[in-house]
Amino acid sequence: MDSKLVIGNWKMNGRTAANQALVAGMLADADINRAGVGIAAPDIYLSQLATMLQGSQIAVAAQDASRFAADGAFTGETSAAMLADIGCRYVLVGHSERRQYFAEDNAALSAKLQAVVAAGMVPVLCVGETLAQREAGQVEAVIGQQLEALAAINGQHYVVAYEPVWAIGTGKVATIEQIDEVHKQIRAVVLQCYGASDSIRVLYGGSVKADNADAILSLASVGGALVGGASLEVNGFGKICQAA
Ligand code: 13P
Repeated sequence: MDSKLVIGNWKMNGRTAANQALVAGMLADADINRAGVGIAAPDIYLSQLATMLQGSQIAVAAQDASRFAADGAFTGETSAAMLADIGCRYVLVGHSERRQYFAEDNAALSAKLQAVVAAGMVPVLCVGETLAQREAGQVEAVIGQQLEALAAINGQHYVVAYEPVWAIGTGKVATIEQIDEVHKQIRAVVLQCYGASDSIRVLYGGSVKADNADAILSLASVGGALVGGASLEVNGFGKICQAA
C-alpha cells in the first residue's frame, strides 16, 4: 500500500492572522511539510492556504463542494471547478456534520462525488455510525448504505474516511479492534462493489491525537487519518503526521 495520508480538517475555525501563523509553523515542521499530508480549510481561507502552501509538499483540501454545476445561479455555493481552480487536490464529501446539519443524503453525495471527480480532484467520502446505531448492531448496514454513494464514481480515484460519529470531537476514540473491524469491512465492500482506480485507502477519523496516532496508524487496514481538533496545533499534528 502507498504511504499513509493525513488530512487536517480545520472545520469552521480560523482567521487570517491565525492561519498565517499556524501554516508557517506547519511549513517549518518536516513531519508535516511532506507528501501525504493535506489541510482542509474553510472555503473563504482556501486561497490564503493555497498561496501559503505554494511550492510546499502539503496538499490543499476543501471541506465540501457544491452538488450543482460548475457555474451558475446557485447563490452561496462553491463549485468543484472553483476549488480545482485555486489548487485543491482533495475534497471531503459527506462529513457527518454535513449529513447531520445539512441533511446530505446519498443522492446529494453522489452528485458531489461526481462533481469532484469531474473537476480532477480526489473526493474523500466520510462514513460512520452514530452511537445509537452501534448499540443497535447496525454498523455494517449503516456504513454499507453510506458506501452506496460510491457507485456514482465506480472505478475512479477516491478515498474513504471512517469517522464514527460518537468519536468525533468527544475525546472518545474507537478501540483498535473496532477500527480494524470496520476498516476491513469497508475495504471488502469497496473492493467487491465499487473498485477504485488505485489501492483502496481508508482513513480513520475521530479524536485522533498525538498519543493514540501510533497505535491507530500502525494498523494495516488504516490508510491514514482525518484529524479535526488536533490539526489546529502544530506540535500535535506534527506527531500524528510522524506516526503515519
Ligand atoms: P476530531 O479529530 O476533532 O474528533 O474530528 C474528527 C473529524 O471530524 C475530522 O473530520
